[in-house]
Amino acid sequence: MTFRVSQLLWGIVMSTSLWLPAQAVDVRGIRLWAGPDSTRVVLDLSGSAQHSLQILKNPDRVVLDVAGAKLAGGVRAASAGTGAVKQVRMAPRPSGELRIVLDLTRPIQAKSFLAAPNNRYGYRLVVDLGSSQNTDMPVKVEHAPRDARDLVIAVDAGHGGDDPGAIGKNGTREKDVVLAIARELALKINAEPGMKAVLTRDGDYFVPLRDRMRRARAQQADLFVSVHADSIRDRRVDGSSVYILSQRGATDEASRWLAERENASDLIGGVSLDDKDDVLASVLLDLSQSASLSASQVAAERVLRQLNRVGEVRKPQVQQARFMVLKSPDIPSMLVETAYISNPQEELRLRGQMHQAKLAAAIHQGVHDYFYANPPAGTRIAQLASGAAARSAVGAGGDSGL
Ligand SMILES: [Zn+2]
Repeated sequence: MTFRVSQLLWGIVMSTSLWLPAQAVDVRGIRLWAGPDSTRVVLDLSGSAQHSLQILKNPDRVVLDVAGAKLAGGVRAASAGTGAVKQVRMAPRPSGELRIVLDLTRPIQAKSFLAAPNNRYGYRLVVDLGSSQNTDMPVKVEHAPRDARDLVIAVDAGHGGDDPGAIGKNGTREKDVVLAIARELALKINAEPGMKAVLTRDGDYFVPLRDRMRRARAQQADLFVSVHADSIRDRRVDGSSVYILSQRGATDEASRWLAERENASDLIGGVSLDDKDDVLASVLLDLSQSASLSASQVAAERVLRQLNRVGEVRKPQVQQARFMVLKSPDIPSMLVETAYISNPQEELRLRGQMHQAKLAAAIHQGVHDYFYANPPAGTRIAQLASGAAARSAVGAGGDSGL
């Protein structure tokens, strides 16, 4: 029995390879680029092709065999001496492959992949030579491959449109000042390498609260920062406060997610809940919420610390409340009440561009500090943060030598 099964399998393997002869494909061109650390060789192909790559020594060279390929008329081995490539040699092999040899100036890493057609080019066989940090990544496009993603910060200006938010004694509307601060915050975030801001609203219109959260999730935001200005009957009260979602708010939201998960296609932390049983779904949701809440707490503390430097802080601790916009179960979220618009002095300050910029700078610095202390894996900030740590370690070593 075993024998017959393996015979059958062997038959399938054999016939598959026999029935799929290498497609005839033309090599229509060869292009080379040299960067500071790496050299890229691109073969333009008329179609998809199988290939193999070998790295050989004495002399250093890369050998690329492309199945069923031939050189289109007029294509010549590329000009010599580009980056790590001394010269390119090509010849058909008796087995039907086209062999391409890249003679190298030095021993070097090599990676190859087939790139699918895009709007400029057809199939391309790409060989990357050199110490690029991301040689493990499959790359689909022509651009320099990116090895780390940018952090996404959703910046949410409260209220808007027919919802003015709180209104100061002198008529200042919360929706206007918080939009100015949010825009300034987004500018500062976008000016920083490795971070990208998305505004949930960028004009005087209202966005429903669930839509603000949805926009943040659609952008796969790493952090959600809602910007507001507080109001209270007692006009003497002033200072900023930072809120995160209360445990009670999280519990409410969990029940809602669990109740609605049959018709929700949303993913929680990349996991779908609609195919899980009740217990598993609630455990997964709880894990995600706990992680988000503790990250929210740490990030909010950083922001509060920076706001404390700009001016008065209403309460020295991060506050908790059941604010709707903070309820995303898998995005750390905070709400910043920048000041009391009900306090005439703060109202006046809130209108000033200088103070708006100061508040934005404080929130930005807090966000920056948080992510440099807790960089998510796979982000550019993680690389930058480890670089900064290495530099400061070298610096400390130097100091101790004095
Ligand atoms: Zn508000």
